[in-house]
Amino acid sequence: MKAPAILLLLFFVPAFAHAAEPIPVVTTTTDVAAIVKAVGGERISVESIAKGTQDPHFIEAKPSYMRVMNRARVLFYTGLQLEIGWLPLLVQGARNRSLAQVDLSQGISVLERPTGPISRAQGDIHPEGNPHYWLDSRNGLVMARRIAQELKAVAPGDAALFEQNLKNFEADLSRRRQKWEERMAPFRGAEVAAYHKQWEYLAHWLGLSIIGYVEDKPGIPPAPQQLANIVRTMQQRKIKALLVANFTNPSIPQSVAEKGGAKLVILPASVGGEKGIDSYGDLFDSIIGKLAEALK
Ligand SMILES: [Zn+2]
Repeated sequence: MKAPAILLLLFFVPAFAHAAEPIPVVTTTTDVAAIVKAVGGERISVESIAKGTQDPHFIEAKPSYMRVMNRARVLFYTGLQLEIGWLPLLVQGARNRSLAQVDLSQGISVLERPTGPISRAQGDIHPEGNPHYWLDSRNGLVMARRIAQELKAVAPGDAALFEQNLKNFEADLSRRRQKWEERMAPFRGAEVAAYHKQWEYLAHWLGLSIIGYVEDKPGIPPAPQQLANIVRTMQQRKIKALLVANFTNPSIPQSVAEKGGAKLVILPASVGGEKGIDSYGDLFDSIIGKLAEALK
């Protein structure tokens, strides 16, 4: 008598479990998308506007992105004006009144938050503080918790699943973080130079000291005087590495590194930034590997 009931269950339970359509989510960056994917699992479908090989400050507001936003239920973005040059245009063009918009910078300990009045008048593209916070892997967890909270609000029936996925993400990240920190431990206090103010959170996390930037003001091409200054500082302090994102034109960083006597360390700055970086953890596997190699 029991067999038919079990068969029925076998046939119907899986069909039932997949009955709900995945929740369409849009993110501004691939890093946010990777964390949404980890937490949302099969219950969400996620699309990132920027690619991992693009500078997220400067993305073209294409109509095709507006259509993605038009269909989405939730938008997760980095905030701190990282996407200000293009996201407002996309949101406006999407005409999606039911789109929930989640600024993931809330809850982050923001570095370089200005104390005076906020202004982009001089071209500074970090007027509310440094927006590159996903490059400290500890912040990935803060982002994941916030994402889980928002997804639970959208799909309360899947709360237990999101919670479990969050736990798995956290466990995987802390296991990997221990390895990254061990690998970088010998370089605590090492001095490096950088192109854009992009590695502040990474340096803060790993105990590196960024002694100067090729870009004096974020987003402003360096003047010759500034190039001379950074080269001199690098020579005086015997800097071994100049960090630059792999989407930055390498010609100026290359020449500064050569004159300053340092290695140019070209790093991915986002998930998808190079082949094989498919998850948030993969991003740091690559960054830490390259950094440790350059500093040894
Ligand atoms: Zn920036």
